[in-house]
Amino acid sequence: MLELEDVTVRFDRTVAVDEVSLSLAEGTVLAVLGPSGCGKSTLLRAIAGLEHLSTGRVSAGGQDLAGVPTHRRGFALMFQDGQLFPQLSVGDNIGYALKLQGVGATDRAVRVKELLALVGLDGYAERRPTTLSGGEQQRVALARSLAAEPRLLLLDEPLSALDRSLRERLATDLRAILVETGTTALLVTHDHDEAFTVADEMAVMFAGRIVQHGPTREVWRAP
Ligand code: ADP
Ligand code: ADP
Repeated sequence: MLELEDVTVRFDRTVAVDEVSLSLAEGTVLAVLGPSGCGKSTLLRAIAGLEHLSTGRVSAGGQDLAGVPTHRRGFALMFQDGQLFPQLSVGDNIGYALKLQGVGATDRAVRVKELLALVGLDGYAERRPTTLSGGEQQRVALARSLAAEPRLLLLDEPLSALDRSLRERLATDLRAILVETGTTALLVTHDHDEAFTVADEMAVMFAGRIVQHGPTREVWRAP
């Protein structure tokens, strides 16, 4: 589904991503794990079309994405802070992408209801984002990301702002939701346990390079 060939992203003197090649099969969840500053976010941004590639190629479904802008890639992005629209209700936040696609109000309401059930927030459609806890806001952000059925979901430290117990609970739920929806996803994280819970495969990044990549159970070793 996703293919990276010798992708390098350079900023003046820093080589943030250094000749990374990677492929991700449809329906697979890959965690990119590594210390702060190793290039994880830059790699994700390069896949999303938010960074200029110094060299290399990103393709999806066999299509070279050079020159394809972010909003035309069919990907969804989710960050540490959900960046919900504060002036819109939870339901309107989730239905936003569908509205842009011209989906009518009735169909939108049905889909929003399904998505709220999926993320465990039945009955939250009329709430305002500012009245929700951090964990609930990230659940809404996830529902919003999944609304348009993206062919790839890009998650950049989506649980890192939450406290530990909430993070564990949400990681388990995130795993179940990705499996249930069959979503292909790439999760950037610095947390081993989170990567292990959520992902099928793990790629370990160090100084801009992928130094190890395989099934989570083989890459990850319990201490
Ligand atoms: P991580 O997500 O693993 O913490 P980043 O991808 O954010 O790492 O950063 C990788 C390296 O690239 C770091 O050295 C960082 O300082 C540098 N970098 C990231 N973005 C920029 C930018 N816009 N301009 C210059 N340097 C950058
Ligand atoms: P393109 O050549 O495809 O138009 P750009 O070179 O304009 O792409 O870069 C796209 C994005 O990548 C910019 O918005 C910027 O944030 C980031 N970027 C690229 N090169 C650098 C750099 N040297 N320092 C900081 N950010 C950079």
